[in-house]
Formats: sequence, structure tokens, C-alpha cells
Amino acid sequence: MVERCGYQWPADCPRVERRAGEWQASCCARPVADGTGRCRLHAPETAAEEKATAARSVASEPPATGRRGPFVELLDGASLVGCTLGGASLAGAALRGADLRGAALDGADLRGASLRDADLRDATLDGADLADATLRDADLRGASLEGADLTDANLRATDLRDANLRRATMPDVKLYRADMRKAYLGRADLTGANVESADLTKAYMGRADLTDAVLGRATLTRASLQGADLTDASIGRATLQRTTLYKAVLVDAYLGRTDLRGANCNSADLSGANLAQVDLRGANLRDANCADVTLGRASVSGANLRNVDLTGANLREATLSESGLENATLTDASLRDATLDGVTLDGATLHGATVRSAILTDASLEAAHGAELTLREADLSGATLADADLPAVDCRGTDLTGVDCRGARLGGGDLRDSDLTEITVSQGTRCGAQTSAEDAADDAEAWDAIARAYNDLKRAYSAAGLVGKARRHHVLERRARGFEARANGSVTGYVHLLDGARTPTVSLSDGNLGAYGAYLGSWVSRVTTGFGVRPFRLTVWMLVLFAVAAVAYELDPGITEPIYYSVVTFTTAPPVDSEPAIPLVDALALVETFGGTLLIVLLGYILGNRERF
Ligand SMILES: [Zn+2]
Repeated sequence: MVERCGYQWPADCPRVERRAGEWQASCCARPVADGTGRCRLHAPETAAEEKATAARSVASEPPATGRRGPFVELLDGASLVGCTLGGASLAGAALRGADLRGAALDGADLRGASLRDADLRDATLDGADLADATLRDADLRGASLEGADLTDANLRATDLRDANLRRATMPDVKLYRADMRKAYLGRADLTGANVESADLTKAYMGRADLTDAVLGRATLTRASLQGADLTDASIGRATLQRTTLYKAVLVDAYLGRTDLRGANCNSADLSGANLAQVDLRGANLRDANCADVTLGRASVSGANLRNVDLTGANLREATLSESGLENATLTDASLRDATLDGVTLDGATLHGATVRSAILTDASLEAAHGAELTLREADLSGATLADADLPAVDCRGTDLTGVDCRGARLGGGDLRDSDLTEITVSQGTRCGAQTSAEDAADDAEAWDAIARAYNDLKRAYSAAGLVGKARRHHVLERRARGFEARANGSVTGYVHLLDGARTPTVSLSDGNLGAYGAYLGSWVSRVTTGFGVRPFRLTVWMLVLFAVAAVAYELDPGITEPIYYSVVTFTTAPPVDSEPAIPLVDALALVETFGGTLLIVLLGYILGNRERF
């Protein structure tokens, strides 16, 4: 009678005594080898070559008796240390808890095999087919799986420290809670893989394909994902501290609440990615493509955002303090309620961006470009806007205290209710008319706010000794005050239709005709003296009066030298040596004397007034 091995699984395996209840038990029915009491696979002292031969013959042998469950062959708990099983056909075999330390399984067929809890330390599985295999809780430390096929394999909680998975095919692999510290996954295919809660500290994943992969809560501290494809990947709440994502593709990826402190995202493609509440403090995003990215409530303090493309990005309530956004593109981006103190936006493009209610204290927007930028209610105190090109900027209610506006182009904007105290201006500063505010102004209140903004700018220019610029804002201010008076004017206020009355009653208490008077006065001042500072207009009036008078004297037979007559009449009084024959011309001479004297006095007033600023 042939003596049977009788190895009980899992009772006889010391490696898996824990959780014994979970296992499907098996018993080895192979014949006992000479002098060991166990079969060749279960006797530890059997030579490696003999074991390998035995294991290889398993597939060709008729199935051994005993309960096999779902497995083709039972090799549970087999001791195969250092065995050479290259190209072996072990598909569907049960190798649970097997000792395969240093075994060579290159190119082996292990499809659907169960290597659960197996010891594969330093084993080589290069090019092995492990599709649908189970490696759950297995120990693969230092194992080589280069180019292995792990499609749909279960590597849950597997220990893959220092393992080599270079170019491995791992779509839809389960790596939940796997320990992959310092593992090498260069160019591995991890499409749709589940890497949740896995530890990938210092792992190398350069140019790996992680499309649609789930990396939620995974630890990727100091890992390298250089050039990796993470399109549509889910990396929520993961730890990516000091991770290298250089040139990585993260298009439409989800990175909500991810810890990316000190990460290197240089030249990475993050377009359309969701980075809500992400921690990017001290991260490097230089030259990164962040178009349409969501960075709402993200912490980006001290990050390097040089040349970054943030077109259409959502940066609402984000903290960008002390970050560098030099030459960044923020076209149509929303920075509403964001904190931007100490931020550098030098040379940044801000066309159509919304910086509403943002705090930009001490921020630098030097040489930034931003047509129709909205800075409404933003705090820009102490910020630098030197050489910034911000046409039609909306600064309503913005705090611009102490802002450096030297060489800034802020024309056509809206500065209503903004605080312009102690702003620094230069000859190159171009504020001009607030055309967008004036176009929108429809009531006296709006015109009053516009006029006050002009007054603030006038004072700033005046303080800087820029008389010409101050004069221009004086004209704009007075003009706005004129429009304010017109808006205040009311005729309809006089007329009241009382209840039941057939005809409207007129009362003098409610209307405001005086405002029309003020507007008229303002208009006269504008067309004659340019609000007391424009001598050109007055000169035109002088020439008109002089020329009209000269033509009249020419027609009069009593005056021999009309030009001389007009000059003397204009400057002093009609000369006594000639008398106009026509009474109307005589009267005109008196008008010219009066008008000429008045205009000369006004000219003196204007010239004196011009230097008052
Ligand atoms: Zn046995």
C-alpha cells in the first residue's frame, strides 16, 4: 500500500495559522517520498530540482485525489524555495501559503492561480501570466514582476516593497492597502486599477498609465510619477507630499482634499482637474496647464505658479498668499474671495478675470495685463500695479491704499467708491476717464462717486507735482459734477396729481430747477474756459470776437484801418481818431471792448489757475 503525504491545509502550514477559519481546507494525497514522511512538495529537505520536477509534473499528472474545491491542482503550503519553474503551467493551481522564496517563475502560467499568503520574497516572475490570480496578503518583497501580466489580479494588502513591476500589465488590478514602498512601476499599465489606501512612498511610477485609476487615500509621499498618465484618475484625500508629477497628465482628474505640499507639478497637464480644498503649499506648478481647473478653497500659499495657465480656473476662496504668479494666464479666472496677499502677478494676463472681494494686500501685479478685470471690493492695499495694463478695470469699492500705480494703464475703468489714498502715480500712469463707470451712471449718486474718484486722482497727481495730469482730472471731476447736477434736476417734481383732482397741482417745494441752473453754469464754464484751466477754448472765443468785429469795421465807411481799430478796441477802448458811421457797428465796438477786456481777464485767470495744481 502506497503511503500518502497527508499534509493538512491550512493546519500544517505555520505561516497562516491566523484566520484559519477563512480557508478552504485541503489534504495532500501524493505518495510519500523516501524517508521523509511527506511528499516531495511538502518535505522541506527535498532538493530544489526534485521539487521543481514534481511541481512541473503536477499539470501533466492526473489530478490527485482529495478535495480540490475550485482549483485545478492543490499545491497549498508547498515548500518550493529557490525552485526553477520557468515557463511552468500552473494555471488555476492553489499555491496558498506556498514558500516560493527566491523561486524562478519567469514566464510561468499562473492564470487564476491562488498565491494567497504565499511567500514570494526575491522570486522572479518576469513575464509571468498572473491574470485573475490572487496574491492577496502575499509577500513579494524584492520580487521581480517585470513585464508580468496581472490583469484583474487581486493584490489586496500584498507586500510589494522594493518589488520590480516595470512594464507590468495591470489593468483593473486590485492593490487596495498594498504596501508598495520603493516599488518600481515604471511604464506599468495600471489602467482602472484600484490603489486605494495603498502605500507608495518613494515608489517610482514614471510614465505609468494610471488612466481611470483610483488612488483615494493612497500615500504617494516622495513618489515619482514623472510623465505618468492620470487622466480621469481619482486621487481624493491622497498624500502626495513632495511627489514628482513633472509632465504628468492629470486631465479631468479628481484631487479633492489631496495633500500636495511641496509636490513638483512642473509642466504637468491639470486641465479640467478638480483640486478643491487641495493643499498645494510650497508646490511647484511652473509652466503647468491648469485651464478650467477647480481650486476652490485650495491652499496655494508659497507655491510657484510661474507661467501657469489658469484660463477659466476657479480659485474662489483659495489662499494664494506669497505665491509667485509671474507671467501666469488668468483669463476669465475667478479669484472671488481669494486671499492673495504678498502674491506676485508680474506680467500675468488677467483678461476678464474676477478678483472680486479678494485680499491682495502687498501683492505685485507689475506689468500684468488684464482687460476688463474685476477687482470689485478687493483689498489691494500696498499692492504694486507698476506698468500693469488693466484697461476697463472694475475697481468698485476696491481698497487701493498705498498702491504703486507708476506707469499703470487703468483707463476706461470704474473707480467708484475705491480708496485711493496715498497711491503712487507717475507721468506714465494713465487713468483717464472712467468710461465704463460713466456709461453705466444713471443717477446723481453714481456721478457723485465718479467725481470723488476723479478728485482723489487729481490730488494724487497734484501731490506728485504732475500738474497737467491733475488738471485733466480737475476737468473730468467738474464735468462729472455738472452731470450730477443735471441728474439732480427735476421738473416733474413740481407737478402733483392729487387723488380725485381733475388737474395736477404745482408745488415749488419738491422739484429742483436750481440743479438745472448749476448744470447750465457748468456747461458754460466748460465751453468757455474748460472749467477754468483750458486757455485754448478761450483763445478761440477771443479770435471769433476779434474777427467778427474786424469784418464789421471793414464794412463801415467811417473806419479806415479796421484791423488796427479792432486790435485797439479789443485790448483797450475804441480809438478816438475814427468814428463808426453805422450805429450798429458803434455798438459792436462797445461789445468788443467789454468782451475783449473780459476775455483777457479770464485768460489771466486761466493761466494763473493752471499752475495751482
Ligand atoms: Zn504533500
